[in-house]
Amino acid sequence: AMERYAGLRELPAETLCGKTIALHMNAGLMADLPSLQGSGAEGVGLFRTELQFLIRNKMPKRAELSALYARVMNAAEGKRVCFRTLDIGSDKVLSYMKPNDEPNPAMGWRAIRVGLDKTGVLRMQLQALIRAAGGRPLSVMFPFIAQAGEFARAREELDKALERERILGRPLPASVEVGAMLETPSLAFAPDRFFEEVDFLSVGGNDLKQFFFAADRENERVRRRYDTLDASFLALLSQIVARCEAAGTPLSFCGEDAGRPVEALALAALGFRTLSMRPASIGPVKHLLRRCNLDEVRGVIDETRAAGESSVRRPVVTWLTQNGW
Ligand code: PEP
Ligand code: MG
Repeated sequence: AMERYAGLRELPAETLCGKTIALHMNAGLMADLPSLQGSGAEGVGLFRTELQFLIRNKMPKRAELSALYARVMNAAEGKRVCFRTLDIGSDKVLSYMKPNDEPNPAMGWRAIRVGLDKTGVLRMQLQALIRAAGGRPLSVMFPFIAQAGEFARAREELDKALERERILGRPLPASVEVGAMLETPSLAFAPDRFFEEVDFLSVGGNDLKQFFFAADRENERVRRRYDTLDASFLALLSQIVARCEAAGTPLSFCGEDAGRPVEALALAALGFRTLSMRPASIGPVKHLLRRCNLDEVRGVIDETRAAGESSVRRPVVTWLTQNGW
């Protein structure tokens, strides 16, 4: 699939109305990195670090992680890699750090909740990232932040880790940006101050959607029951876009929907300017975006929402058909 869109690799995802959408890729293994060049992605918008923990039967050592993160940054050749700290629990359980049986693991002790309770693991990972960066820029994002206070505490751990490295006389990253994943509806309603203080936000659409509709993303019976292009869900996404615009905060979307062309088009029309997706989706999404006028798509979405329709999918697809797709 990547070959088919090879001609687009060096071209920007610039729409007919002159807006440029930054397309990044999701990754989680060293083996994913060659796709960074092959797909034409601008960077890694989401590096899922839990795989390195999942493939072992004991806690990885700091030096091992640091070496691995450094290899990832080397392979990225200066492109941005946004490292998401450990998101375990829910569907990703570590044998050596098993929580008690939980009735609802997706809403249980997972991600940053584990990090803030077991600060030793979070600190070790942050130190590994700082050391891997050496003098290069570092980009870190905390998963499953439900409240502004959780982000503040996680960021404090990062600041402390940086301070320790400084005292040890080790090289510090050239710059540090710290963001949060917005994947619980609660965070969309956080105080203005949170939106101003965070360096960037990335919508984890897979989780955000599951919690918005209370529909388990792992449950075949319900996972496709609600449309991502549901008008209510788009209302939430629009609000997130508006709050980030008001605060001047960079916003991206990194759930699976970012890699589905119709969904990507709708997200861009809503105001998302950065999308992160699996590498093979970059070509098709770019191909579509380059041939669309987002203002027209936005018009279709707004009219559909105003008319009280439950999903904007059909009107958007009809618009695409009328425009030769
Ligand atoms: C998400 O929830 O959309 C996301 C990108 O993270 P994950 O799929 O790893 O939970
Ligand atoms: Mg998630």
